[in-house]
Amino acid sequence: MPLEPGLYVAATPIGNLKDVTFRVIETLREADRILCEDTRQTGKLCAAYGVTTPRTAYHEHNAARVQDEIIAALKDGAAICLVSDAGTPLISDPGFRLVEAARAAGVNVIPLPGPSAAIAALSAAGAPTQQFFFAGFPPVKSEARLAFFKSIATVDATLIFYEGPSRIGDSLRAMMEAFGDRRAVVAREITKIHETFDADFLSGLAEKYRDGAKGEIVVIIDPPPQAEPALDADIDSFLLEAMKTMSLKDAAAATADAFALPKKAAYDRALAIKARR
Ligand code: SAM
Repeated sequence: MPLEPGLYVAATPIGNLKDVTFRVIETLREADRILCEDTRQTGKLCAAYGVTTPRTAYHEHNAARVQDEIIAALKDGAAICLVSDAGTPLISDPGFRLVEAARAAGVNVIPLPGPSAAIAALSAAGAPTQQFFFAGFPPVKSEARLAFFKSIATVDATLIFYEGPSRIGDSLRAMMEAFGDRRAVVAREITKIHETFDADFLSGLAEKYRDGAKGEIVVIIDPPPQAEPALDADIDSFLLEAMKTMSLKDAAAATADAFALPKKAAYDRALAIKARR
């Protein structure tokens, strides 16, 4: 069956060439053309799977220039496959403007899911996963980088960053300054021969990677520590103290404020304490 016309956004391996889906290979084979960040890089994947579809460049330097022509071809019914050098296009990679323009032009946009370094790192890091915040690459300049980290220091989620090997030491130090000494993981060379997951506090990782590191890196940082929930015994002793100098109602109100409790709960507790005495 011929490929439906449209823009296919295809995820490709982040190291291990086997991490590509059947659907991506099939689409690469059957598309009218492949838009690549780097035609030689994508050439390796194509050679490994016998894909001979024409490849043309689509990257940050020519994106604006070639976009109109691509959209015109899509509107004419072409099936075009967008890939980046590795992982999922648009995720810290080119493609957003093209997808935006394709949707605005009423063109079918089809995701072909697969690898992304952020999700691969998160899936094996051992950090909480209920909520996570993908922060991409931090700014390169040190002042902007620290300000950026500080601006997200209270986000109540696991944080995910991409970082280059020469900047990792500086970034980890700035992370420690902004986030405090949280638990973190440096995931390097995922799916490649030298894959490593290094889990430690930020202080330990900053020391270890002080002089940089080799390879491609994702940093995962635990969410901010939660305030310990108040223990019943703490609440009771606060109430008892307050009841020495205040009316029961005022003592309950002061306790509710101090422990962020509903007023009724603090009042009922005060009544129970009074009844026991
Ligand atoms: N679009 C890609 C994705 O979905 O993961 C990311 C592209 S971004 C230009 C490249 C960055 O992703 C690298 O600098 C590194 O931070 C991270 N990365 C890519 N491959 C990786 C790997 N195998 N191991 C660790 N990090 C990787």
